[in-house]
Amino acid sequence: MRNTIIIGNWKMHTRRAEAIQLVDNIANGLATNTAPSLRVAVAPPFTALESVAQTISSSSINLVAQNMSDNLQGAHTGEISAVQLKDLGVEMVILGHSERRHIYGEDNEFINRKLLLALRQSLIPILCVGETLEERKADQAIDVCRHQLQAGLDQVTPVQARNIIIAYEPVWAIGTGQTATLQDANAMHIALRQLLVSQYDTECADHCSILYGGSVKPENAQGLLSSPHIDGALVGGASLKAQSFLEIIASAP
Ligand code: PEP
Repeated sequence: MRNTIIIGNWKMHTRRAEAIQLVDNIANGLATNTAPSLRVAVAPPFTALESVAQTISSSSINLVAQNMSDNLQGAHTGEISAVQLKDLGVEMVILGHSERRHIYGEDNEFINRKLLLALRQSLIPILCVGETLEERKADQAIDVCRHQLQAGLDQVTPVQARNIIIAYEPVWAIGTGQTATLQDANAMHIALRQLLVSQYDTECADHCSILYGGSVKPENAQGLLSSPHIDGALVGGASLKAQSFLEIIASAP
């Protein structure tokens, strides 16, 4: 059975002291609330990773990085490598977030290079895919996301694929307050899992968690997370307040 995974993406928010306070409040709230099959993770900004790592060292919260370099070391000013992330205790890394794709021009090939590197360094990649509003209106949503997934997984072996987390995040739903309908989210998650079956096998597809992201909040979390096709959530804005993040976690089955 797949674990349910709830990940908070803090983006470019929080100074160190705020990050420590936030994760401390989350950890304290979790102690009484969580089912053992539930995995909770936070993705602070790079500047707070070490402080957050120390704060969660005796909790079950996993540490996630929001991005990483496509190189391991060398003359790459401003970049952070998988080795440096591992050194801080990072276990997972978000790759291909729509803000990276659309603001910073990251393409499928670049994201695939990072994903292969993350796997080689034993970091769990959280591969984000998602269509724009124009693509959804043109009835291309499923094709676009399947293509992003297929390209992101290029050269990934069946054994490696089992360790990947996928996040379906419609671009038009991120930070907008709009959420995909349960019907649309289910259809996408089914299509992505089918791709894993055809590319790998049923066992691999059954093993991979496919999360939903895009304006997940306490009011809509239960509806989304109760779907058998949705294995958790990637949460942006609502993960910046311990109370709302804990409410989302508490609504997981
Ligand atoms: C995200 O950043 O991945 C995200 C889904 O943001 P929000 O929940 O704010 O839409």
